[in-house]
Amino acid sequence: MITDRVYDLVRDDVFLRVTGLSDLNRLYLKLEGLNAAGSIKLKTARSILTGVELSGIDMARVRIIESTSGNLGVALAVICAAKGYRLTCVTDPNANASAVAIMRALGAEVVVIRERDDNGGFLGSRISYIRNRLREEPGLFWVNQYANPNNPLAHEQSTAPAVLDEFHQVDRLYVGVGTGGTLMGITDYFRTHSPRTRIVAVDSVGSVNFGSKPQARHIPGLGASRRPELLAPDAPDEVVLVREDDTVRECRWLARTTGLLAGGSTGTVLAAIRGQAADIAPDETVVAIAPDLGERYLDSVYDDDWVVEHGLGRALAPERPLEEGQ
Ligand code: PMP
Repeated sequence: MITDRVYDLVRDDVFLRVTGLSDLNRLYLKLEGLNAAGSIKLKTARSILTGVELSGIDMARVRIIESTSGNLGVALAVICAAKGYRLTCVTDPNANASAVAIMRALGAEVVVIRERDDNGGFLGSRISYIRNRLREEPGLFWVNQYANPNNPLAHEQSTAPAVLDEFHQVDRLYVGVGTGGTLMGITDYFRTHSPRTRIVAVDSVGSVNFGSKPQARHIPGLGASRRPELLAPDAPDEVVLVREDDTVRECRWLARTTGLLAGGSTGTVLAAIRGQAADIAPDETVVAIAPDLGERYLDSVYDDDWVVEHGLGRALAPERPLEEGQ
């Protein structure tokens, strides 16, 4: 393949079969980390920016601004660099240091908001900051991934059909939820094209997305301290909430058993699957979206000191005492 556009490097056709999680024989991870920009958010960013371009706005006159936990910012920065657009990313201390460094290296302005919102997270504070700047700076354009219909559209048009094209019949599909863009786009597509697929939304304990109590969280990507406008909480068939120590444990299990160094939210969906494995027949086709890779998490999920400092040390203990004879 030869291309002159980095942002066209989307790999929607790579699935890793994972064995050894309970007795599941047909468990597959859709590896979104192989896209340029390193995550599923490349597709979101392309779809959102195409929407802005089609709206007729003079891109030479505006500066795009967006709130991001990291991956969308990197993806927007890739496209904006290639197209010569100006970009400001508003993020917070939970964002991976390397994601922030990448955004800057690609020429984006990055603002890190350190003040927590009323729910103990940062999303409310990031958005207040953007609203204030929009009042003061006429040339700013907020693409707002939390409410932008082109966010779920990206997944309805590419992520979801890519899964169904590969497997034809999918029994269960596990999707992590941040903005809900992936979940809503996938759900819309599967309701029409494969209504018997059970869609399981996976979120972090402490996220308010599905109505539970807000609580501080440390792993970026998944979860929210303010419910995104585009998320309909009753869209999935089921919701599973996962503790961050289980997220860490599963990421590390996956790395050591398969060689795939995955991002935090991949561990979250695996934890949800493991929790339900007793109810899944070994030959059901189970697919989970793996939104990014793990290099950006070496100083968090894969760092023992970070794990202990953030109260997640339970992830480092053996899962259960070895049974006799093992
Ligand atoms: N996992 C990771 C690592 C992410 O960066 C994101 C996007 N913030 C998600 C999961 C959730 O995706 P969505 O915003 O489409 O719900």
